[in-house]
Amino acid sequence: MLAQLGDEAKLLAGGQSLIPLMKLRFANPRHLVDLNFIPETSYVREENESVKFGALTRHSEIENSSITERFAILHDCAAGIADVQIRNRGTIGGSLAEADPSGDWATVLLTQKTEVRCLSPRGERTIPLANFITDAYTTVLDHDELVREVVVKRPDKGSGGAYLAFKRSAPVYPTASAAVQLTMEGDVCTDAAIVLGCVGLVPVKPKDAVAALRGRKIDGKAIASAMDAVHAAADPQPDMRGSAEYKKTLATALVKRAIEVAMRRARGEHVEVSHIYA
Ligand SMILES: Cc1cc2nc3c(=O)[nH]c(=O)nc-3n(C[C@H](O)[C@H](O)[C@H](O)COP(=O)(O)OP(=O)(O)OC[C@H]3O[C@@H](n4cnc5c(N)ncnc54)[C@H](O)[C@@H]3O)c2cc1C
Repeated sequence: MLAQLGDEAKLLAGGQSLIPLMKLRFANPRHLVDLNFIPETSYVREENESVKFGALTRHSEIENSSITERFAILHDCAAGIADVQIRNRGTIGGSLAEADPSGDWATVLLTQKTEVRCLSPRGERTIPLANFITDAYTTVLDHDELVREVVVKRPDKGSGGAYLAFKRSAPVYPTASAAVQLTMEGDVCTDAAIVLGCVGLVPVKPKDAVAALRGRKIDGKAIASAMDAVHAAADPQPDMRGSAEYKKTLATALVKRAIEVAMRRARGEHVEVSHIYA
């Protein structure tokens, strides 16, 4: 239908980004192609080393899925998105396709080995998430192409992740957020991934912060170096949520807390976290 209707048609998933934009007249598609009637598009499946999400899997399905007991960073993300009404409608595929710089899923899934499976009349292609989002609200999707499935590789044993955001209240996007995944051998971090949300036009990967942790003993000094690097890498826009410096400071503090939780989870501890609300 997208191919037939041309680029004046838009897909409708949960409608939690598109409908507000239409109400504000920022989006005015001539046709809406509703994905909600297509069976087998909403699922959470564990297969081999991966977890697969159908594009229409709602945030709440992921929040309540048993997989999150073994993959806690997914719970941190899903459970913290807006409020229960939005989590019951909004989808993981729609969130990645929207590529909102404040959206939670891209920030979290970029710390993981994540692939986006896309479908068009020309067939299927698999795109690493790192290559999927190219700019704010922009992805590599063609106008007649949709996200079919999101595939996330399960972290290795000895690896733990955490996602924390600072929010002014539940039903709003975060002011700043930080996702961290650490692989530990004793006190030494053998691998690390850090991604910051809401502090750039796309999720920000602070390379120097990763370098401050990878291959090192994680102590106060290493964490302080990572925090300095996060402060330097964050490049937020000032807006109603706060000044650029305020958001940089928030990102720095969130990374510290996320590192501490990720380390404990990497050691096998069960640690529950919630976002920080003003
Ligand atoms: C008040 C409010 C607060 C919110 N707070 C947060 C928050 O804190 N964190 C957060 O991450 N999100 C938040 N959201 C957004 C919410 O998470 C949405 O679920 C998310 O933006 C995706 O929306 P959707 O699935 O409803 O997709 P839709 O709104 O239906 O679609 C969004 C865009 O993606 C396209 N699209 C949808 N599905 C596909 C697909 N399978 N393939 C290709 N293109 C597709 C659509 O054409 C459209 O352009 C909030 C939304 C609201 C209204």
